[in-house]
This record gives sequence, structure tokens and C-alpha cells, in this order.
Amino acid sequence: MLQNTMGEMDFENRIVAPEYTPGDGEVETSLRPKTLEDYVGQEKVKENLNICMQSAKMRGEALDHALLYGPPGLGKTTLAGIVANEMGVNLRVTSGPAIEKPGDLAALLTNLSQGDILFIDEIHRLSRSVEEVLYPAMEDYALDIIIGKGPSARSIRIDLPKFTLIGATTRAGQMTAPLRDRFGMILRLELYKPQELCHIIKRSASILEVPCQEAGALELARRSRGTPRIANRLLKRARDFALVMGDGTITKEIVDLALERMEIDHLGLDSNDRRILATIIRNYNGGPVGVETLAAAVGEETVTIEDVCEPFLMQVGFLVRTPRGRCVTPSAYTHLGLPQPAGASGISLEQLSLLKE
Ligand code: ADP
Repeated sequence: MLQNTMGEMDFENRIVAPEYTPGDGEVETSLRPKTLEDYVGQEKVKENLNICMQSAKMRGEALDHALLYGPPGLGKTTLAGIVANEMGVNLRVTSGPAIEKPGDLAALLTNLSQGDILFIDEIHRLSRSVEEVLYPAMEDYALDIIIGKGPSARSIRIDLPKFTLIGATTRAGQMTAPLRDRFGMILRLELYKPQELCHIIKRSASILEVPCQEAGALELARRSRGTPRIANRLLKRARDFALVMGDGTITKEIVDLALERMEIDHLGLDSNDRRILATIIRNYNGGPVGVETLAAAVGEETVTIEDVCEPFLMQVGFLVRTPRGRCVTPSAYTHLGLPQPAGASGISLEQLSLLKE
């Protein structure tokens, strides 16, 4: 199912892809928590946001601009919706690549009301010319517009309502410093722990009115790569299996069966993850291998490997990034059931402990 007829990897249709796919559809919207209280985990982020929101309310001013960063599917868009809801203001959602010209941004900004939130997803993909319009808008709530050309050109300033920009990015490192520095809050979202995902799954199951046993929810949580979007998607697949193969209740047995059919193993790795690890082991003797070379070898874009596959493979301790390239760890060999040859480079347990220090 996850391989196309050529036997190549099919990243786009991956059930464990953390990015939004059309299949997530309206259900995703219905599962989004609306209040901070319903938003599970990310305690530090919630605490910081809460204090800033309360302070903004007390001062009767717009909230400071905030930048949310972390891998896809962790709840950045959801959080922007919650902030708008809790502040009682409107939310406008757009994304970096959708704002093509400075005029597009100017149109968005002039349509905002006092206190409104503008959410720009993938903000690191804004073009330079659009970014330059954003600087005075964020700093002085103003738009500088140049009218005319050549010596007769003049600039006029239009005042904007005091709005809040919430930017989201998977790669804070790719943002320009001037843009990053204009955010009053920079909040990093972490991968979720199984207990937190279990909570999210039980909440989603009750919204979808699917009976779900604790053991079933926990098993789904363990295999969701620390990502709520994947957890919700696996829940929906398990519900299908429960209806067709069982009595409609999601049990651990149903989850095991469903995930085995989807080739997702007990840690949440799918065939693509295993193929990345196996490629490093077989073609590059365990690494180090540069990420571009690896991406070419598995037929995937470097960004997908870096943003989507690696955070999880590093979290489970199967992959490390070293200055010389990517290396698999001894536990990756064990997980794949491959012997670690004496001459394999990869990374030894001693080197691994040095890296951790
Ligand atoms: P991102 O913008 O980071 O890609 P989203 O905000 O679109 O992620 O979240 C994806 C899905 O995961 C949403 O449908 C939401 O229901 C769910 N979700 C994300 N974070 C949480 C959370 N902390 N608690 C409950 N559900 C969450």
C-alpha cells in the first residue's frame, strides 16, 4: 500500500506523514481543541502563552507577535485558533508560499481589525520583498507604500490596526534574523509523550463516538511518532478495522492487526523509515552519510527527510546527526534484526554516550 508499482517509496500517501493531507479533511477541524484547557501537553508553551494573553487582556492591547516552531502535525495551527478564541478576536489563516507579492500581504493586513490574529504557516518561505513589508507592519503597525517610479516616487505610510502575527515554521533556522527578532515570543513545540497522545486519542475517540479501550488507545499512542495528527489518523484507521473485523470497539488486538496491515511496527516506524535506516546500513556501512546523498539514494527530498523522518528517528534513538553526516546507532541494527558487522562505521555506544554529554 505504501509502495507504488515501481517499488519506490510513496511518501505522499504515507499514513504516518505528519503533514496535513486531504484525507484528514473536516474531521481534523472537528478534533481541534478550542481552549487551552483542552490542548493536551506542551505545558511550557501553554504557560507562556497564557501569561502573555492575560497581560494583553489586562492592558487592553493586542498580544505580542509569536513564533511557533516544531515538526509538522504538533498543533501549531490549533494553538493559533485557541489564542484567537481565548482573546475573542478573529483569526486569518494563510501561509508563506500563498503570499506571492507585497500587495497580497498589504491586502491581508489592511483587512484586519484591532486585535485580530494573522496566522502565517511556513513563514520561513516568505519572499524577501514580502518580508520587507512585514517589518514595519510588525514593529510600527504601518505599511510603507511607494507610489510612482524614478525621481517622482514618494512613499506614503498607512496606519494598520494593532494586530498579532502568529508565525509557524518547521525550520526556525531558515528564517532571516530580522524577521525572527521581531517576534516577542518564540515558542518551541516538542514531540508528545505516549501518555499525552493517549489522552488526545481518547478525546478524539469520544468526539468521533468510537468506543476505545485504554490498552487500544495506549498502543495507538505508542505508534504515533509523537505527533497528534498521526495519532488521530491512526485512530480513524483503527476504527475502520474495529467496525469490519471486530465489534466496533478499538481494542489492543484490533490496533495490532490494523497497524500490522499498514506495516507500522511497534515503535511507529513505517516501511519508509526502515528503508532509510537500511539504506544507511547497506549502502553506507552505517554512516556517516550526508543528508543530500541519503535523500537521493531513497528518492526523497532532503527537506522531507530532515523535517519529517529524522526528528522521530532521532527521538527513538536510531539515528544521530554528526558533523560528518547521518549515522545509525547500534539499536537501529537490533531493531531491523541486522547484525552489526565489526567493521561497520555507524556509531558505537561509546561515541553515542560522548555525543550525549
Ligand atoms: P500543525 O499546524 O503543527 O501542523 P495542527 O495544529 O494542524 O498541526 O494539528 C493537527 C491535528 O492534531 C489537529 O487536528 C488537532 O486536532 C490535533 N492536535 C494537535 N495538537 C493537539 C493537542 N495538544 N491536543 C489535542 N489535539 C491536538
